[in-house]
Amino acid sequence: MTKARGRFAPSPSGRMHLGNLYTALLSWLSVRRQGGEWILRIEDLDPQRSKKEFAHLIEDDLSWLGLDWDEGGLADKGAFGPYVQSRRHNLYNEALSKLKALGVVYPCTCTRADIMATQAPHQSDGRIIYSRRCCPPDMPQQMDEPSVPHSVRLWVPDRTIEFEDGLAGHQEFNLDKDCGDFVLRRADGAWAYQLAVVVDDAMMGITEVIRGEDLLLSTAQQLYLYDLLGYNAPQFKHLPLVRNSEGQRLSKRDNSQSMDYLRSHFSPEEIIGRLAHIAGIIPDYRPIAARDLI
Ligand code: GLU
Repeated sequence: MTKARGRFAPSPSGRMHLGNLYTALLSWLSVRRQGGEWILRIEDLDPQRSKKEFAHLIEDDLSWLGLDWDEGGLADKGAFGPYVQSRRHNLYNEALSKLKALGVVYPCTCTRADIMATQAPHQSDGRIIYSRRCCPPDMPQQMDEPSVPHSVRLWVPDRTIEFEDGLAGHQEFNLDKDCGDFVLRRADGAWAYQLAVVVDDAMMGITEVIRGEDLLLSTAQQLYLYDLLGYNAPQFKHLPLVRNSEGQRLSKRDNSQSMDYLRSHFSPEEIIGRLAHIAGIIPDYRPIAARDLI
């Protein structure tokens, strides 16, 4: 049997909050229980929002909580590196070349304003389905990249992607209606999350992905990319989101749930105990070390 390989893939755009810790803890516990390996991947694709100091703080916070990783991090420990996305440009380029050869990507010169002006109606959650303004009528076909600034979009067929989520159950999304053609590389050259995460999870041999249920739709997009690129997909488990007392999902601006605040008010055992209780791993709240939950 293959060894379980899980990962935690934070974006270093701020201090972690309780929701990030919840994901980290459950993913860590799952692989530790199976005697597997836990990988820390730094998802610093967004050059404007990512800061190295936050990546250092993420590592420090995880260590303080007792969540140790076998591979990855800023030190690039392990055989599947680099583990920092900004160092993996060549691998994303190779994947994009494969997709170009399949004739399923096209250049898009739409600005944000163009997209807002020509969008198909908003989805109820504010998502915009791209209107295909730049899409040639006869896809699939191989296309040259223009010299003007452009993003690269994946053309999606009218296909329903179904999958069994290990926690959220059976899922179905239609690529055309629920996602639309999505960006793989932005006009400023930054790689999009959807492409990078698929390349990375596949090439790092990840067998299980545990993350928040806000990424269920992304999973359908990612499964389509796994299929096109000929990679094996991992098992997925999507967790309910941790919310604040007003019922809103946590954000990195929510200071009272941030590690900065939490570390100055609670011990690692108190935080881990609280999260384990929320997850239903221990019936009543009590302080407990992460390793004692395995
Ligand atoms: N960097 C992404 C995030 O922080 C990772 C999502 C994932 O686990 O795939 O939301």
